Amino acid sequence: ATPTALMVGTGRGAQLGILIKGPEVLENTRRADTIVLDKTGTVTTGRMTLLGVHTAEGTDETEALRLAGALEHASEHPIAQAVATGAAERVGALPAAEDFVNLPGLGVQGVVAGHAVLVGRERLLAEWAIALPAELDQARTEAEAAGRTAITVAWDGEARAVLEVADAVRPTSAEAVRRLRALGLTPILLTGDNKAVAEAVGSELGIERVVAEVMPEDKVDVVRRLQEEGRTVAMVGDGVNDAAALAQADLGLAMGTGTDAAIEAGDLTLVRGDLGAAADAIRLSRRTLGTIK
Ligand code: ADP
Ligand code: MG
Repeated sequence: ATPTALMVGTGRGAQLGILIKGPEVLENTRRADTIVLDKTGTVTTGRMTLLGVHTAEGTDETEALRLAGALEHASEHPIAQAVATGAAERVGALPAAEDFVNLPGLGVQGVVAGHAVLVGRERLLAEWAIALPAELDQARTEAEAAGRTAITVAWDGEARAVLEVADAVRPTSAEAVRRLRALGLTPILLTGDNKAVAEAVGSELGIERVVAEVMPEDKVDVVRRLQEEGRTVAMVGDGVNDAAALAQADLGLAMGTGTDAAIEAGDLTLVRGDLGAAADAIRLSRRTLGTIK
C-alpha cells in the first residue's frame, strides 16, 4: 500500500474509535487469523456485582461479609470492588485491614479484626491446605454452572463462606464475535477465571475454544503457543495481567476502558471499549491494504 493509503487508513480508524500506534500496525491487523479475547473487562463489562452469599454451618453471614469486605476494600480488582461494595451495602461500615497482600490471579490475604483472612479462588485456599466443606463446595459448583464466579472466604485456617459474583457480557460482544468469524478469524476465550464460568460465557458468545484458569503470567505463553502453531495472533485485553500477552501478540488490541498498562502494551486501542471496533479495525486494514474491496 502507498503511504497515502496508510494515512487514510489510520485517519478513518480514528473516526471509528480505533487509535492505531503507527501505519505499520495495519499490516499485522490485516494478517491476523486468530483472535484471543480476554474475558473479564473485555467481552464482559468488568463491573462485577455481589449476587449471593453462602456460609458454612456455624458461620455468621455478617461476620463473613465484614471480614471479606474489609480485605477486598484494599484491592482494585473488579471482583474485590464487587465484594467490598456488596458487603458495605449489606452490613454497613467495614473494619480496616492490616498486612494486606494482593496475590495476582489468586486473591487477597491480610488481617482483619485479629483474624488471618484469605479471599480468593479455591486454589488459593488449597495452597494453605484449607478444604471446602461439602455445603460450600456445592454452592461453588452451582454458582459456576450458572456462569458466576465463586469466591471463597477463609479465616483462621477454615473455609467459612462462598461469595457469588458476576458481571454481564457486553451487549456488543456477540455481534462482534460473529463479525470477527465472518472475517475468517478464529476466536479463543482466555481467562484466569474458572472453566465452568468461561464455558458459560463462551457458549453465550458462540466461542468453542476456551482457555481457562490461566495465571496472569501464563497468558503470554498461551499466545506464544498459538504463534508456534503458525497462527498470526491478535489479542484483545484490558488488564494489567494482559499486558505481556498484548505485547507478545502479532497485534495487541487494548480496551480504551482498560488499564494504562494494557493501553501502553497494545498496538491499537479500541477507544470506546467496544469489541465491534476490533472487527472494524481488521476490515479497515484489509481495505486499506487492498485485500478486500
Ligand atoms: P481474568 O483473567 O478473568 O481477568 P484474574 O487473572 O484477574 O482474572 O483472576 C483470576 C481469578 O483469581 C478470579 O476469577 C478469581 O477467582 C481470583 N481472584 C483474583 N483476584 C481476586 C480478588 N481480589 N478477590 C477474589 N478473587 C480474586
Ligand atoms: Mg480482564
